[in-house]
Amino acid sequence: MRLDDKVALISGGARGMGAAEAQLFINEGAKVVIGDILEEEGQQIEAMINESGGECLFAYLDVTNEASWNEIVNTTINKFGKLDILVNNAGIFRTFGIEDTTSDSWDQVMDINAKGVFLGTKAVIPEMRKTGGGSIVNISSIAGLVGSPYSSAYNASKGAVRLLTKSTAIQYAKEGIRANSVHPGVIETDMTREAINDEDFHKFRLATNPIRRLGQPQDVAFGVLYLASDESSFVTGSELVIDGGWTAQ
Ligand code: NAD
Repeated sequence: MRLDDKVALISGGARGMGAAEAQLFINEGAKVVIGDILEEEGQQIEAMINESGGECLFAYLDVTNEASWNEIVNTTINKFGKLDILVNNAGIFRTFGIEDTTSDSWDQVMDINAKGVFLGTKAVIPEMRKTGGGSIVNISSIAGLVGSPYSSAYNASKGAVRLLTKSTAIQYAKEGIRANSVHPGVIETDMTREAINDEDFHKFRLATNPIRRLGQPQDVAFGVLYLASDESSFVTGSELVIDGGWTAQ
């Protein structure tokens, strides 16, 4: 049990990679709170996990809202007594080049993907401090490492997550609070399916990936598990790339 006695909060845990991380964390002995704006999907994940013997709670969370973060942290403490792990996973993907990006769409992407990570981090630090430490895992992207021709705001938001993670790591290392970023390549989730549903593009992505397959949520969840666990106790401010070798080219 790699997360025995740990309590984790996962934003955007109602589907996709967040839901896969919730299930894996439960399998490894953690108690998990998942927060999302998708209430029906979140309640389904909660029920599925609890029916299989795990301890999971779904609570509504809008990551752009500071009060919503404070509420879910309080809910976590009331239910499980402490908070050891935060996975800042919630995010949206939008495909706009610079000239097609409106001021509003820029703000929406930055609010959810970047400000949401800041607010989540701010909300959990006091609770982690009380128990002498914790692990914050921020889901960035390969789009936080290299540019792309069609997602300016997404690139900017994921780059912000990468450096906010290092800033957090440096500020809180002395208090035993670690922060690391994860950089997935193309992973088969609803986000990817909704954004680009084009057979030719799908073939192109497969052909340009050194490991000739797209990633699965589980591929990322195993990396997040390592960073969440005490196995990574000397790892902070680092970047874990999980992309089938795409950015190595
Ligand atoms: P997904 O769309 O399946 O899941 C994202 C979740 O975030 C959803 O449940 C959604 O409801 C939630 N969310 C969105 N806005 C929210 C808000 N304001 N408050 C709370 N929750 C909110 O996507 P996914 O592929 O599982 O992506 C998870 C993370 O991984 C995202 O941060 C994404 O940017 C990142 N990522 C995805 C890929 C990919 O190829 N799928 C690649 C790299 C990084």
